[in-house]
Amino acid sequence: MPSEEPSPASPSADSERYSRQILFPGIGTAGQERLAHAHVAVVGCGATGAAAASLLARAGVGTLILIDRDFVEPSNLQRQILFDEADAREALPKAEAARRHIARFNSAIQVHAHIADLTPTNIAELLTPPSSPAHIILDGTDNFETRYLLNDFAIQRTIPWIYAAAIGAYAATLNILPGSPSGPWALNPGPCLSCLFPTPPTGPIDTCDTAGILSTAVNLAASIQVTEALKFLTGQPDLMRRSLLSFDLWSNQRGEIAAAKPVPGCTVCGQHIFSHLAGDARPHITLCGRNSVQIHEHHRPIDLNLMRGRLAQNASLLEIQDLRSNDLLLRFRRGPHTVTLFPDGRALIQGTTDPTVARSLYARFIGS
Ligand SMILES: [Zn+2]
Repeated sequence: MPSEEPSPASPSADSERYSRQILFPGIGTAGQERLAHAHVAVVGCGATGAAAASLLARAGVGTLILIDRDFVEPSNLQRQILFDEADAREALPKAEAARRHIARFNSAIQVHAHIADLTPTNIAELLTPPSSPAHIILDGTDNFETRYLLNDFAIQRTIPWIYAAAIGAYAATLNILPGSPSGPWALNPGPCLSCLFPTPPTGPIDTCDTAGILSTAVNLAASIQVTEALKFLTGQPDLMRRSLLSFDLWSNQRGEIAAAKPVPGCTVCGQHIFSHLAGDARPHITLCGRNSVQIHEHHRPIDLNLMRGRLAQNASLLEIQDLRSNDLLLRFRRGPHTVTLFPDGRALIQGTTDPTVARSLYARFIGS
């Protein structure tokens, strides 16, 4: 967390702009100054990430690192509140579109936009650049592969991160607060993602592209996530929630799973085995042929009939064409890309040589 002494005349601590937030006793003048010196990374600038980035920027967080691998599409506009029709027409990268929109309503803060897929190779450079290492990381991703990578990195570096997920009308968040011998968590570290879920889910995973999403669920997840981050950044980590909190806004169900202490023997936070950071758990990607990428996702047996049913139901909404399947493979076309999926979870994506595009399609339509 930021430890710098507040400077008296920081442009990003403009007292009129932030007057209503300063009036709130939990923030005050001192809290606002701390926010001006805070560095927050948002990984993924889709629905949750864009909402979180917008809220952080309006709150006056001084430095934002935004990372996203995708481009704005018309189907994003229903829920991704930082983007507009011109962004979708130009297929602007989300990280850059977010940076431009933030600059229009808060030009005093620093926004570093990275059009990138977060990988074991670039994670340290993107999240902890020497000039502005993230004090806290917010999860705006759409896949578990990146979340487990984030978890490894955050535990290794003792940086807090906040998990957030939204699908359908459901929203969930969890604060992940690593222990540190000298930091504020020394006495009271919380569980990590692996403590609660030792392995990533297997088989087909519902995604916003297959199960749909309400923008309200996304904004709820982002609101809770950013509020928790504000507590941390203003030096009040003791106020942060110690549970996995979930809401289903349609059925009005609320769930809370206690998450006060790490699970003894957890491979990540207990034994410090960082397999996702080492790249061991990552699917292998190979370029094959002149214009295709293969994703060798193992241990992910996929029921092709079930998958076909899910995709067929909403093929036109998802802009999926030529959906076909038999016992051996499922294939569909989307725009310039043809996706072929095999029962062991392996996929061939034709129409690109860019592994990032292939991984994004996989995460969206198959789930990762
Ligand atoms: Zn753990």
